[in-house]
This record gives sequence, structure tokens and C-alpha cells, in this order.
Amino acid sequence: MSSQSVTVRVPAKVNVQLAVGGRRPDGFHGLASVFFAVGLYDRVTVAPAERLSVGVTGTDAAHVPADGSNLAAKAVRLLAAHHGIDSSVRLDIAKDIPVAGGMAGGSADAAAALVACDALWSTRTSPEALGRIAAELGSDVPFALLGGVALGEGRGELLTPVPVGGTFHWVFAVADGGLSTPAVYGECDRLRGLTTGAAEHQVPAPVADPALLAALRDGDAAALGAALSNDLQPAALSLRPALAATLRAGSEAGAIGSLVSGSGPTCAFLAKDPQSAQTVADALTASGTCREVRSAEGPVGGAAVV
Ligand code: ATP
Repeated sequence: MSSQSVTVRVPAKVNVQLAVGGRRPDGFHGLASVFFAVGLYDRVTVAPAERLSVGVTGTDAAHVPADGSNLAAKAVRLLAAHHGIDSSVRLDIAKDIPVAGGMAGGSADAAAALVACDALWSTRTSPEALGRIAAELGSDVPFALLGGVALGEGRGELLTPVPVGGTFHWVFAVADGGLSTPAVYGECDRLRGLTTGAAEHQVPAPVADPALLAALRDGDAAALGAALSNDLQPAALSLRPALAATLRAGSEAGAIGSLVSGSGPTCAFLAKDPQSAQTVADALTASGTCREVRSAEGPVGGAAVV
């Protein structure tokens, strides 16, 4: 690889709260989404090249497009267009974030590509402009730039950092196969008895839960575990009933909170300390209810050059 290459490490997210409102006229759902960055990382490397090309490595690489449709390639083109420069780079994505798991891996790669190219090209894009470009790429991309914990309003892209008073210990049960985010939102509307043309006001406006924000501020794992919530969980369980057994296995092993991560199918478990996290991870592995078990701490910082 060229000595001029730039590598950026970017974390996955779990939504500790995902409150879903009605479908807006633009097709998006209004959200109150409390994003929490966890220490599972993809690495994105960019280097000068003759043309824009993409390579993907890692366990799930076969499920990620290695062409211009990759969200990270779109990010490269959008940043280049913003500065009126050429987008020819080699983009290498080393994936460790589960693909289509509700942990925003594609969004993370897009955010990493923005940070990597901005450094490679010395374009010094302002954080505000970078945030706007990120929001254009997808609702979860701005958070991957920021990291930590943040409340996302609008369709999730309008971020307010949330203060956090400690480190939390997570275990993730990765399911076999992904779930399509639009399919899960569609199922959510269906379960609520809403037709596709339903007006936004038919659903109460989504708001952040004060008890959850207090638990984060106090670094209180038990209170956070009790406050975890995801309005998409019934829809993910409806499309993938087997997730109920995964959630049960983690809870029975002593997790102090559990939920489906985002649109799923990854299930997230909060543990009271690292020892308990290991117990939960071992039990999930033994349960045979998931493909892979990962442990991670958080919150961690957003996309950064390494
Ligand atoms: P979210 O939590 O934001 O809903 P997700 O974690 O469920 O996202 P992703 O891992 O982002 O889902 O992948 C969703 C789809 O996007 C994949 O099936 C894949 O085909 C496509 N995709 C495009 N670019 C990427 C990328 N860089 N990494 C992963 N998937 C990508």
C-alpha cells in the first residue's frame, strides 16, 4: 500500500433507545434515537489510485458490495464533488462490524471514508460541512463521525451529544443473515395497524426517555438496563421469531438489560461488569441461538485516523 495511505477506525453503534414516530411525507420515520458507540470497529484505508475502486475483507465481506454502490464509495464521490476534485482513490474496507445487523456498519464505513479522504486530500472540511455530507449519505452516518452517545432527532441525523458518567459492558449476539432496515420499518407500521399512506400525526411524537438519559449521565448500568427500549423490536421479532430465544438466553445468563439492536437482527445485552459480560457471552455461545458472540465496551469515540 502507498506510503500516502490513510487509515480510519470507526465504531459500530447500538441504539439504547429507538423511539419511532409516524412516517413523514418524505418517507422517513420521525425518530428519537439514542445512539451509543461501542468498541467493535471497521477500518477503512484510502490511497491515491488511477480510478475509484473498492476492496472488502472480513468474515461478512461477501455480503458487502465491492463497487460504486458501496456507501463508502458514495461518500468518497460526494466529498470530492463538494471540493470540486477528482475522486480517484483505492478504498479498502476491513469489516469487523456485523453486516446488515442493525449496527450501522455501512454508515460507519461511509463516515470513515469521509474522514480518511479529507485527510488524504488535505481538504480540511469543516465539521459542519462534513456533517451535512454525512446526513446526505444516510441518517446514521453523522453519528459515526461523532461517536460517544448522542440523541438523534429528525430522521436520526440531528445530533445532540449526551453526557455519560461511565463505561458500560456489552455483549452482542450476531444472528445468521441480516434484516432489511426498510422491511423492519414496514413491519413496524403494519403491526401498528398503519397503512402506507398513514399520516405522521397518527403516531405520538417520539421523545427521549428522561430515565434513560439520567442512567447514562450517572453511569448506572442497572438503571440503563431497565430503560433500554426499541420500538422496532416487535417488528424484528415478527420477521425473525427465533430472536426471542436469543434474548431469553442472554437474560437467563444474568444480563441486566437486553434489546434488539436498531432494525436487528443483532441482539444486545448489557452486563453489570466484565465478569458478568463473559458469563453472558459464554451462555449465548452455548445456547446455539446465534452465529457469533462479541463483547465490547463503550462509549467510544467516532471515526478517527489511526
Ligand atoms: P443500520 O443499523 O444503519 O440499519 P445495518 O447495520 O443493518 O444498518 P449495514 O451493515 O449497514 O446494515 O448493511 C446494510 C446493507 O448495505 C448491506 O446488506 C449491504 O449490501 C449494503 N452496504 C453498502 N455499503 C456497505 C458497507 N460499506 N458495509 C456494509 N454494508 C454495505
